[in-house]
Amino acid sequence: MEIKTVGIVGAGQMGSGIAHVFALSGHDVLLSDMSADALSNALALIDRNIERQVSRGKVSAEDKAAAIARIRTTTRLADLGPTDLIVEAATERESVKVAIFEDLLPHIQPHTILTSNTSSISITRLATRTDRPEKFMGLHFMNPVPVMQLVELIRGIATDEATYKTLLAVVEKLGKTAASAEDFPAFIVNRILVPMINEAVYTLYEGVGSVRSIDESLKLGANHPMGPLELADFIGLDTCLAIMNVLHDGLADTKYRPCPLLVKYVEAGWLGRKTQRGFYDYRGEVPVPTR
Ligand code: NAD
Repeated sequence: MEIKTVGIVGAGQMGSGIAHVFALSGHDVLLSDMSADALSNALALIDRNIERQVSRGKVSAEDKAAAIARIRTTTRLADLGPTDLIVEAATERESVKVAIFEDLLPHIQPHTILTSNTSSISITRLATRTDRPEKFMGLHFMNPVPVMQLVELIRGIATDEATYKTLLAVVEKLGKTAASAEDFPAFIVNRILVPMINEAVYTLYEGVGSVRSIDESLKLGANHPMGPLELADFIGLDTCLAIMNVLHDGLADTKYRPCPLLVKYVEAGWLGRKTQRGFYDYRGEVPVPTR
């Protein structure tokens, strides 16, 4: 099946990046969010980010104009009814995602494939809350979507081969590389990455290092392009905590215990770059460590 129209639910960091890459690769995109502000911010961000690609000579001005013209927005989930593929990229909370799929079901077509960009929640379990577990998959983009090459493809127990092949072709058309992961908590990338971030927060919590020394150590000592705390701010501390909770609950191993300091930052609403404060404060000219 060829995917021509794509509906995206959630216009946050990920949804806006996903809309960007689908529109640039020639798909008609309908981007939805319950917040009209999130939609207008997403459109402005997409415009800025594609403009950056134009100024670097990676995208032509005509292709930019065509991509922007392919993106429409809506606050009503029902408007996503006619699309061939839906990518759910709303907040990382199972109840939110389940409610979105339940609201979508009466409106979508029989052939529509449903996917979730979840970082950690069981695809098999989400699929059972729909009328089409065989046409349901995890389509996990990395942040920032326009820059990162990998897309994880996660099959639920019931996902059929045709759906998997269709999504492999979609990833190829986006110019990205697919990695297949089994449906276990946090899949491949976050199963490894987020416990490392959680360990960095423990290292801070126990006073082994400061925000700056922890990030410098991993950049210069392990050749990571970003330090783990800087990366946590980039991902969103609420998302990091949600992933640790899924690992802890799903694998029942104390090694996945979320660090109390991570919980504290989330309780404070210091969620990283998206709220301008996390392990660093982004409100000034340069990021300043908050501990
Ligand atoms: P975000 O907080 O930036 O955006 C979430 C958006 O969802 C918000 O705009 C919110 O208004 C919207 N939303 C919430 N409930 C909704 C509903 N019922 N209907 C419509 N819209 C709704 O979050 P994000 O970082 O973009 O993450 C979104 C998803 O992508 C999560 O599942 C997350 O785990 C996953 N993900 C995140 C990253 C990352 O690095 N941040 C990477 C890969 C995958």
